[in-house]
Amino acid sequence: MEAGKVHLYCCGPTVYNYAHIGNLRTYIFEDILRRVLEFNGYDVTHVMNITDVGHMTTDEDAGDDKMEVAARRENRSPYEIARFYEQAFFHDTERLNILPPTRAPRATEHVVQMIELIQRLEEAGLTYTTSEGVYFDTARFADYGKLARLNLTGQRTAREEVVTDESKRNPSDFMLWFLNKPSHIMQWTSPWGTGYPGWHIECSAMSMTYLGETFDIHCGGVDHIPVHHTNEIAQSEGATHVPFVKYWMHGEFLLMDKEKISKSKGGSINTLQSLVDLGCDPLGYRYFCLQGHYRAELNFSVAALEAATTGLRKVYALTDEDDVLKADDAAYQQARRRVLTALNDDLGVPHAVGLLNSYQSRKLWLEFDAVLGLDIAKRAMKQDEPLGEEVLVLIEQRNAARRNRDWSRSDALRDEIISMGYDVADGPDGTRVKRRSI
Ligand code: AMP
Ligand code: ZN
Repeated sequence: MEAGKVHLYCCGPTVYNYAHIGNLRTYIFEDILRRVLEFNGYDVTHVMNITDVGHMTTDEDAGDDKMEVAARRENRSPYEIARFYEQAFFHDTERLNILPPTRAPRATEHVVQMIELIQRLEEAGLTYTTSEGVYFDTARFADYGKLARLNLTGQRTAREEVVTDESKRNPSDFMLWFLNKPSHIMQWTSPWGTGYPGWHIECSAMSMTYLGETFDIHCGGVDHIPVHHTNEIAQSEGATHVPFVKYWMHGEFLLMDKEKISKSKGGSINTLQSLVDLGCDPLGYRYFCLQGHYRAELNFSVAALEAATTGLRKVYALTDEDDVLKADDAAYQQARRRVLTALNDDLGVPHAVGLLNSYQSRKLWLEFDAVLGLDIAKRAMKQDEPLGEEVLVLIEQRNAARRNRDWSRSDALRDEIISMGYDVADGPDGTRVKRRSI
């Protein structure tokens, strides 16, 4: 929209549970997008909402409220739940080197803006009110479903199963403001009565508040195309009569055992912490995600994660001495151009990573680490740091055990040193120890 600037909106987490690694794949994709734009010299304003109102367990307004289910489960207030999991979310994204958004507005702090937007839709004749709440009338919005190429007639049967409100006019109509739900703990007053906002309206209201009525790029996972983003467009364009978003970019799903993993039915490995508990490094997971293009599904397995981690260890181990490109500027610039071209071709991250692996140039990896976010400089330096006093003592003890041919003690000491985060090898001069990068 504006030279040199990008206004980017990404749908953020619903903070009623830990993010699962599928969610985190989407945030990694969005982080790479932002970093690629910045690498190309754009000034990016990145807004990501925090859904702390809670929304229904299905996208279609029916079902239990996620935040309230969590509040009952954990015997805490919905606000406590929301703040706790918001913090947990940012702890995960920090461990994955995902840059914090420029702004992370909370839905509960933007209810006024949501009410104003619903009023504009009401003035435009796009709403109707029942005892259940204020609905968006999708039949009165000409382009409804265009993004998802929805066939509304085909959708009817599937959707009717979740329709509980008899006065709802069309199956695809959705709630802007819920009324008469006294069991819902979070309530606000509004021109229509006491209640709470629908989920979709929060993204329309907060994106327009911080990025304008039309902005450059809107992201989310592919699951948001048929309902959430379709509804965001209807609400926004219905009120403003200008295009809501220039480009939509959707991240494909992470699959586990070929099945969609979700927060509610995840197995034992579903959060970043569960990977850390297995001994995996968060940046190993980030590197694993970089092996897949954002528009392709990616199959998760621990074996694939370990293979990616081994690959990343090799990147951290690269040295300036082996770097042939470093001394040849023309060759370096040509390689740099190829990697950048790959990244700029619809975020060809796997292609770019493949090129970087073929060049084996530490200097080139370091430059593109601004995009890849793998902490290469820090991790390589960590390997060269002097060893701590504690480990020096263990090395001495192990050398002594080996001189005494006490192999079981030697093995036990090796395992102890490894568990402290070091690689151990045996050389002619005794135990050789290096800090492990990952
Ligand atoms: P939620 O917190 O449920 O609103 O989801 C946060 C983000 O993760 C959204 O952009 C979803 O589209 C995305 N998402 C959900 N499940 C997956 C998955 N298995 N793989 C990748 N992204 C996902
Ligand atoms: Zn959204």
